[in-house]
Amino acid sequence: MSLTHDVINPATEEVVTTLDLVGVEETDAAIARAVQVGPVWRAVSPADRGGLLRRFGALVGEHAEELARLEVTNSGHTIGNARWEAGNVRDVLTYYSAAPERLFGRQIPVAGGLDVTFKEPLGVVSVIVPWNFPMPIAGWGFAPALAAGNTVVLKPAELTPLTAIRLGELALEAGIPEGVFTVLPGKGSIVGERFVTHPDVRKVCFTGSTAVGQGIMRKAAGSLKRVTLELGGKSANIVFADADLDAAAASAPMSFLDNAGQDCCARTRILVQRSVFDAFMERFEQAVTAVRVGDPGNPDTEMGPLVSSGQRETVRSFIEGAEESGHAAPDIAFRGSAPQGAGWWYPPTVLLAHSTDDRCWREEIFGPVVSVMPFDDEADALAKANDTAYGLSGSIWTRDLGRAIRVARGVESGNLSVNSHSSVRYSTPFGGFKASGIGRELGPDALDAFTEVKNVFFNTQLAEGN
Ligand code: NAD
Repeated sequence: MSLTHDVINPATEEVVTTLDLVGVEETDAAIARAVQVGPVWRAVSPADRGGLLRRFGALVGEHAEELARLEVTNSGHTIGNARWEAGNVRDVLTYYSAAPERLFGRQIPVAGGLDVTFKEPLGVVSVIVPWNFPMPIAGWGFAPALAAGNTVVLKPAELTPLTAIRLGELALEAGIPEGVFTVLPGKGSIVGERFVTHPDVRKVCFTGSTAVGQGIMRKAAGSLKRVTLELGGKSANIVFADADLDAAAASAPMSFLDNAGQDCCARTRILVQRSVFDAFMERFEQAVTAVRVGDPGNPDTEMGPLVSSGQRETVRSFIEGAEESGHAAPDIAFRGSAPQGAGWWYPPTVLLAHSTDDRCWREEIFGPVVSVMPFDDEADALAKANDTAYGLSGSIWTRDLGRAIRVARGVESGNLSVNSHSSVRYSTPFGGFKASGIGRELGPDALDAFTEVKNVFFNTQLAEGN
């Protein structure tokens, strides 16, 4: 019996299309093709492999509006975000198209010969993508993997497969040989699981929840598969009394409301120095209530719906449904607005946290919800910021350069920004400390995660004639 999945528009709850999902047999066949075509892909000269990736990137650019519209329909992303996301895939492909000609090894001085290292492809790499950023997260996996000479099988999330499927078609159109990059829409428990257990898959590049990531790492140990894990987050936004308070308050809403809060880097814990707490909250309330929530296809919209009714129920279970599940009801400071009626809407919600043990302070909600708490001094701010299992992102607002450096070094997190909330640039490394993951994506070093180092010694001392 073949499995199907209804793709639903989160803003209207209408069925967009029904897809046949891939099963184990088709997954095995795709992996077998990826193995078979591996030598063909590796034999493409570095310049030509780079050229194919540039062509792929250019085609993504030409189809950026189509891809962006598809994402609005499939995932409820605002059109502004979706355009950025399609552009990000183009840029990541262009960035890594320079890599095949720059996969440098080293020449290491040794006695009696010449010693050189090579960066060899791993073989078949699998990429498992979550639903929150379907296009960029796919690109962060497949672009460097292909550049390094691997073949790739990719599984989009069940809820959001449409843009990944289109990217697979564009790769073929760009001239990348069939079987080098295959998109397999299917269930995590079937296709994803098979990527992890299949002996011919050499690496799992996973982005998703911490619990699923832990399971993948456990299973990958069976065949010593390489893993990169990009997992959850509960990042802190630390606002010191000496900060530009207007700028800190004005930028704080979109640091947790972007993508309706379904962002692993969302700054969902705001720490404000006690002496400016009230002044910050007053400005912050004005900024949150001014956020435009509505039709994601409208270019003026800043926040769209949640991805699914299930995700909205999850978010509600932390707020309206907290007591039902045996937790204390959170202390709501204020809320923004959201449309009523069809669509999985949820209003921006600001909570006051009274203890670092509060459930909403500790757990990743993955919705438009933030908790705010005062702190006393730098040491208190650092202790509270680091009192979390996660360590993905974070922001520091201060005008004191020394403090900015001390706190940036002190926060246990992979991606920090000072006086801004930026965190992901394709040219810089991205990844988490602690339960937020293992390994880094993007930037110049991502290729190391998709290659093995081979060391070769050439004896130069054999006697002539031997
Ligand atoms: P999820 O873990 O439920 O699913 C992620 C992907 O894994 C999906 O494609 C799913 O089908 C697949 N999967 C599920 N079970 C599997 C299994 N047993 N074996 C193999 N694959 C399996 O996560 P989600 O709900 O789609 O995404 C939200 C989570 O992703 C959040 O926790 C968020 O913080 C995290 N995330 C992290 C980053 C990052 O870079 N650190 C980025 C985006 C999202």
